[in-house]
Amino acid sequence: MIIRKSRDQIEKMAQAGVVVAACLEMLRGECRPGVTTAALDAKAEKFIRKHKGMPTFKGYRGFPASICASPNAMVVHGIPGPYELKDGDIVSLDVGVTLEGWVGDGAVTVAAGKPRRLAERLMEVTEASLKLAIAKCVPGNHLGDVSHAVEEHVEANGFAVVRTLVGHGIGRNMHEDPQIPNYGTPGEGPLLEEGMVFAIEPMVNAGTHRVVVGEDKWAISTADGSLSAHFEHTVALMESGPRILTLRGSMKAPGLGTALPLW
Ligand code: MG
Repeated sequence: MIIRKSRDQIEKMAQAGVVVAACLEMLRGECRPGVTTAALDAKAEKFIRKHKGMPTFKGYRGFPASICASPNAMVVHGIPGPYELKDGDIVSLDVGVTLEGWVGDGAVTVAAGKPRRLAERLMEVTEASLKLAIAKCVPGNHLGDVSHAVEEHVEANGFAVVRTLVGHGIGRNMHEDPQIPNYGTPGEGPLLEEGMVFAIEPMVNAGTHRVVVGEDKWAISTADGSLSAHFEHTVALMESGPRILTLRGSMKAPGLGTALPLW
């Protein structure tokens, strides 16, 4: 069952979303060669708690850290640790914040130092696919419209969407109905209604769509070792259209800032 939220409840979720966005912004500034993913996690936890939030991921099904940090071929769910970012690395950072019982969830992929051209293009295409999906978050559309928007843009650019991991409804719990695949058929799936709130999160691989689970049983990586990128926003469906609750000004993809009225 998809739980619809009232305007007041969406305002509360927006407060959690602000902390997610600000934390990701802070982390982006910290991503440089020589920094460990454990150091990023420590900074994020401190930041979230300073802003009266709880790191949603910590302890979730036993996850041991406050953020997920997934470098290069790692898609999602990387446990932060001693890995030191190198010049040209990309790293996907996923942050969840619970504030006064409401959850916000967002992710970005950023480069340490200067990314190679392929990595840069992968990040651009992935973030653009998220924007296109958000534009479909309008009451009266169907969930398949959202999913299809990601798939279409990613595949037109020669990349692959991960099929075994999905976005999700979000509210008092991080994971609510519905599941939101990054592929689908326009016009199919649940009808979108005002008050629904979704965490939309394209996970895009430069090579095969197939993924493998790591020895720690958390980290998920591309099966062929190709690069992967991940962008996520928490989005509320308002009568007037989508409202991004985890919006951050400086995360615009280059050249796309004015392509959609949303940003
Ligand atoms: Mg999520």
